[in-house]
Amino acid sequence: MKVLVVGGGGRCHAIADALRRSPKVEKIYVAPGNAGTAEVAENVPLKDTDVQGLLAFAQKKDIDLTVVGPEAALQAGIVDEFRSHGLRIFGPTAAAARIETSKEFAKELMMRYDIPTAAYRPFDDYREALDYVASRPLPAVLKYDGLAAGKGVVIARSMEEAEAALRDMLLDDKFGHGRVIVEDYLEGPEFSFMCFVSGSDVWPMPLAQDHKRAYDGDRGPNTGGMGAYSPVPFISEDERRFALDNIMKKTAAAMVLEGLPFTGVLYGGLMKTRDGIKVIEFNARFGDPETEVVLPRLKSDIYDIFAGVADGSPVEEPVWDDRAALGIVLASKGYPGSCEKGFPIGGLDALNDPDIRVYHMGTAWSGDGLVTAGGRVLIVVGRGDTLAEARLKAIQGVGRVACDNLFYRTDIGAAALEH
Ligand code: ATP
Repeated sequence: MKVLVVGGGGRCHAIADALRRSPKVEKIYVAPGNAGTAEVAENVPLKDTDVQGLLAFAQKKDIDLTVVGPEAALQAGIVDEFRSHGLRIFGPTAAAARIETSKEFAKELMMRYDIPTAAYRPFDDYREALDYVASRPLPAVLKYDGLAAGKGVVIARSMEEAEAALRDMLLDDKFGHGRVIVEDYLEGPEFSFMCFVSGSDVWPMPLAQDHKRAYDGDRGPNTGGMGAYSPVPFISEDERRFALDNIMKKTAAAMVLEGLPFTGVLYGGLMKTRDGIKVIEFNARFGDPETEVVLPRLKSDIYDIFAGVADGSPVEEPVWDDRAALGIVLASKGYPGSCEKGFPIGGLDALNDPDIRVYHMGTAWSGDGLVTAGGRVLIVVGRGDTLAEARLKAIQGVGRVACDNLFYRTDIGAAALEH
């Protein structure tokens, strides 16, 4: 079978790596890919949002299955377009992907189907929003409902902060003209629950936890994720079961009832609060970097899962490895702000330990060798019987990477180990 993976980050490298383990897959293409995917697949120089270019490529190469990584491609309608041409594709339609791309859609759905989440109200009027904030306990969570380059969520701890943020979002249209969701502040550790979903059928993946902040001790600005691990020891089996039945399966069923059956990976960004597990957000695709620590634990053939979900045909319950995985992201100095690129990376060839795997996030080949080409550059994933062993392996691996312009967090998984 020939498979096309759309995307270019660490998540797509991990997906391509999992596909490579399938005896059914004879050829993998990744568009656009990176220097890491080039080792396991053939890169195709097409942007992930170039739907027409990707469609023409898939038709020309007789691709049997396309797997979509990033949300931008989903939002661009790649699934609808491929399906309308009779091509098999793994991912939700643009309408179903609204569970990620529209916070108001996701919130309304959760309210209508009694799926646990923070109380909220949507606003387009500055005064009304401010009055609502004043009527609720602080802090207040203010979310711009549209693309805001990661700056669209503000946790306001005082009325002054709320005023300033609402002014930016609703009066000055800092991110464009849009609405704002004001929601109650929840407290507790966050974790990620990804499931393969085909209509109302749901196959859970093991839980993972991401580390969003740039620096140790959860300090510094928010990033795309500085590291992750799986499994998550602070969530009990009862809590996981609750989240599966009352959040993930219920949401999949709700989407069917709404006439928007979901196909692909539904990602629950969940929080363990004093009042139980609640939804912070949904994503309509694999998480990054959670995928890099979850897919290495998959023992079943991922091609069968992707193809079964895409076709709406029965899928055998996936089998997962008990061994833990922990990944540490190496990012360019300055990330998530502006950072220089093009620094040589060495040491990866010496990493021939079966319990250490490196996924490329932002790398490229230059004339002389491998160089940095993004904010997040590599994720080094360690495996072990326990999280502590997996962490040691990841730290060992990180120590062997030679590059002058990278930094990383030293506390990935540390809190989980104390649990
Ligand atoms: P992402 O880039 O992570 O997808 P996003 O822009 O979609 O972010 P959310 O995931 O809704 O926004 O929120 C970002 C972060 O803000 C969350 O990971 C969480 O830490 C925090 N947050 C969001 N909602 C709440 C809430 N109700 N209570 C407390 N913290 C919250």
